[in-house]
Amino acid sequence: MLKIVIVEDDPVIREELALLLGNEGYQAVTVTDFLNIFQQLREAAPDLILLDLGLPGRDGISLCAEIRKTSCTPIIFVTSRDSTADELRALSLGGDDYITKPYNIPVLLARIRAVLRRAGGTAEPDVLEAGELALHLTRGTASAGDKSVELTRNELKILAYLMGNQGKIVSRADLIDALWDSQIYIDDNTLSVNMTRLRVKLEGIGLPGLIKTRRGMGYQL
Ligand code: CA
Repeated sequence: MLKIVIVEDDPVIREELALLLGNEGYQAVTVTDFLNIFQQLREAAPDLILLDLGLPGRDGISLCAEIRKTSCTPIIFVTSRDSTADELRALSLGGDDYITKPYNIPVLLARIRAVLRRAGGTAEPDVLEAGELALHLTRGTASAGDKSVELTRNELKILAYLMGNQGKIVSRADLIDALWDSQIYIDDNTLSVNMTRLRVKLEGIGLPGLIKTRRGMGYQL
């Protein structure tokens, strides 16, 4: 059974979501102590997180950014705020999708299914290899020899896409498409930041210079 953690401080919405997801066959877990959310999420090890943007004492977006440092668990923001700026920030910091309250239940469920499907990658191989590099898709780690490093969801997607196109030059636009399935939500800057972090991590496992920049054209593995 797939586990979904609901991080929502409004008790009415929280219980409503828990009931709804339970009826759909998910294991719904609610967070009610907002002091140690991060630790609770780690312990729960969910398949997906529904995250409210406005939480007591902390911003859902900053929490998402913190989660993304160590985990690629899918995150859908559920929020009453309705501003494009928030949406952009949420998605560029690692949110997988965004739904505004009052939400439409069939739409919310469809988005949950879509995000879980994208995260699952059921028919695809679990490990991709390129020379010394092995990418473990389910574990979300990259390894070379006896060294291993955890990747965020975005870093994992970037590297998987480059490995699937080994030897070819991949343009930034291709990567942006592959990452978010659309060019609407991601800017060039966010891609650069992800690429820089990914390169630092690859260097850490003994693979500096693995991703080459082809000036004016894109990247090449
Ligand atoms: Ca709230």
